[in-house]
Amino acid sequence: MAKAKNKKSSILIIYTGGTIGMVQHPQTGMLTPVRFEQILEEVPELNKFNLNIQTEVLNPVIDSSNMNPTSWIKIANKIKKQYNKFDGFVILHGTDTMAYTASALSYMFENLDKPIILTGSQLPIGMLRTDGKENLITSVEIASSKKDGKSIVPEVCIYFDSRLFRGNRTVKSDSELFSAFHSVNYPELAIAGVDIKYSSKNIYQPENKGILKVNTSFNDNVVILKMFPGISRSVFNSIFNIPELKGVVLETFGSGNVPTTRWLISCIKRAIKKNIIVLNITQCEGGRVVMGQYETSIELIKAGVISGKDMTVEAAITKLMFLLGQGLNTDDVKMYLNKSLRGEISE
Ligand code: ASP
Repeated sequence: MAKAKNKKSSILIIYTGGTIGMVQHPQTGMLTPVRFEQILEEVPELNKFNLNIQTEVLNPVIDSSNMNPTSWIKIANKIKKQYNKFDGFVILHGTDTMAYTASALSYMFENLDKPIILTGSQLPIGMLRTDGKENLITSVEIASSKKDGKSIVPEVCIYFDSRLFRGNRTVKSDSELFSAFHSVNYPELAIAGVDIKYSSKNIYQPENKGILKVNTSFNDNVVILKMFPGISRSVFNSIFNIPELKGVVLETFGSGNVPTTRWLISCIKRAIKKNIIVLNITQCEGGRVVMGQYETSIELIKAGVISGKDMTVEAAITKLMFLLGQGLNTDDVKMYLNKSLRGEISE
């Protein structure tokens, strides 16, 4: 009994790249990745935790603009392989596409009961005013935090600038401020001040968890089409006629509206008849799609467009890629799009 109590928690840090691990070229000023050991040398504070911390590096280390489903699968497989050995996982990741990776990972891990915390920084960890140290140290603390022997946050999250968010609810909202991420439609899971205050009622805790399953398949025949006043018929039609196209995230105005122009609705109807899935996501940061509220969205319901409700674009496109990759029939993909898989939709 005493032995089990004293057992150190183990954390695996996976370094994938991003500003946190970059240095500035003395002549050009361009940021390029450094060796992972150098990053850890910058944070000797990690040794003060009573934790067994191990590290892995994604090969190659990348700027997160180069992330894609293959990289998501590589990261997921690293976690899967060592899942039983560790109590929590911290992924150091570039901020640019962190919300996409977090969303994708949230769908891939079924029955997750340990934290997977993504973090990074706006300034490299070697710089005097870096935000990377605090982000990394607190992420490690959150990843190792337990209550009654269970992880406090058994979710895929993003920790940034003192706030812990559900990964698939988060968007990068600022390219300069340390508070680079927001989650407008869902509250923070924790706020780190003098203490880390967890909002247990907001943390995803499904009742009947089975054993961990990691689904590693995506279909990239998808597109995000953002509506704008004046979008031309030829541009719209060309996108819907992309060969092999399987799904479209249609970024609409307000609560899910598009122009009532005949050709636009006809184009969407033809696509849906060809089994292309059209998912309606609002361009607004907050709020949700409510089709049928205005004349400008009623035709979308009739055409068979699916409501993305209050999903972020990042959560929507990765969910579409994920579901299309699972070998489901079109009706099942639509059914799963409509409901929350990992807390990405408010019901
Ligand atoms: N371009 C970098 C990346 O996403 C930006 C960052 O890490 O903040 O990898």
